[in-house]
Amino acid sequence: MNTRNLRFKSNCIRDIVSLYHEELDALYGSGEVSVFCEMLFEAFLGWDKVRLLTSKEQTIDQSDLLRFHWALEDLKQHRPIQHIIGYTDFCGCCIAVSPDVLIPRPETEEMVNWALNNYTIDHSPFTFLDLCTGSGCIAIALKKAFPQAEVTAVDVSDKALEMARKNAKSNGTEINFLQTDLLATNYQLPTANCQLIISNPPYVRDSERAAMQPNVLDYDPALALFVPDDDPLRFYRAIAQIARKSLRKEGLLAVEINEALAEETCVLLKEQGFSPEVHEDFRGKPRWISAVWNP
Ligand code: GLN
Repeated sequence: MNTRNLRFKSNCIRDIVSLYHEELDALYGSGEVSVFCEMLFEAFLGWDKVRLLTSKEQTIDQSDLLRFHWALEDLKQHRPIQHIIGYTDFCGCCIAVSPDVLIPRPETEEMVNWALNNYTIDHSPFTFLDLCTGSGCIAIALKKAFPQAEVTAVDVSDKALEMARKNAKSNGTEINFLQTDLLATNYQLPTANCQLIISNPPYVRDSERAAMQPNVLDYDPALALFVPDDDPLRFYRAIAQIARKSLRKEGLLAVEINEALAEETCVLLKEQGFSPEVHEDFRGKPRWISAVWNP
C-alpha cells in the first residue's frame, strides 16, 4: 500500500501521532490518545516514552506504518488497545488477553495491591485461592509476590483457563488451575487452610448493559461480566460458602463488587458470618470488600 492511500501525511512520527489525535481525540480525549500512542510505539517498535517524545522527525518503514494504520482503524471501531497489542500490564506482570478473557482492570489491581500491602501474610505453608480467574492475572500477581504459596485458580471457561495457563507460564509462575462452575452444587475444591480467597466475579446486572461502553460490550466476554437482575449476588453467595469452609482462622476474603450493590453484598456476607469492610477505587466508588475470617 502506498502512503498516499493511507491518511498519514508521511512516515514521520510527528505525522502519525497527529493523525491519531485528529481522528481519535473526539472519541477518547487527547490524554488517552497519547497513552495509546505510547503503548503502540512500545508494542510495535519497542520504543519507550522518552524515545517517542524525542524522535518526532524520525521516519518508520512502510510495513510498520501499515500496523499504525490498522491500529487506528481498530481504535475507531472501539477495539480495546489491549486486544490490538495483545497484552496488558497487571501489577507488573505482562498478561496476554483475548476476547476469551476479561481485560484486567486497574481497580482489580488496586484490590490486589491492597491485599498485599495491608494484610499480614505469614510464612507457614498456605494456599491462595482465586475464584473466576479469567486471564489468571490475580493468581499470577499473588504467586509472584509469594512464591512459597500454593496458588489455586478456578474458572468455568476452558478457553479462559487456556489463556490463564499460558500467562502463568510466560510469567514463570506455577499455579493449579481448575475448571469449576461455582454456581453448580456438586463440586469440591481441594483447598483448605487458605490464607487468602480473592475474586473478581461477574457482577454487572443485565439491565446495566445500556450504560456500558462499546469497547466493553463488544469485546469483553459476557460470561465474565453479566449476572441476571433477579439474582445479581449469586457468585458472592457461592464464594462466601467456599470461604466459610476453606479459609483458615484470620484468613482474608477479598472480592470486587458492583458499586451499586455494596450494601446488599455486605448484608449477604454478614449473614454468612463475615465482618465486611468496603473500599473505594481510585474513582471514589465502592469497589471491593475485605473481610477477615473470625468465626
Ligand atoms: N469492572 C468491570 C467493568 O467495568 C466488570 C468486572 C466484573 O463484572 N467482574 O466492566
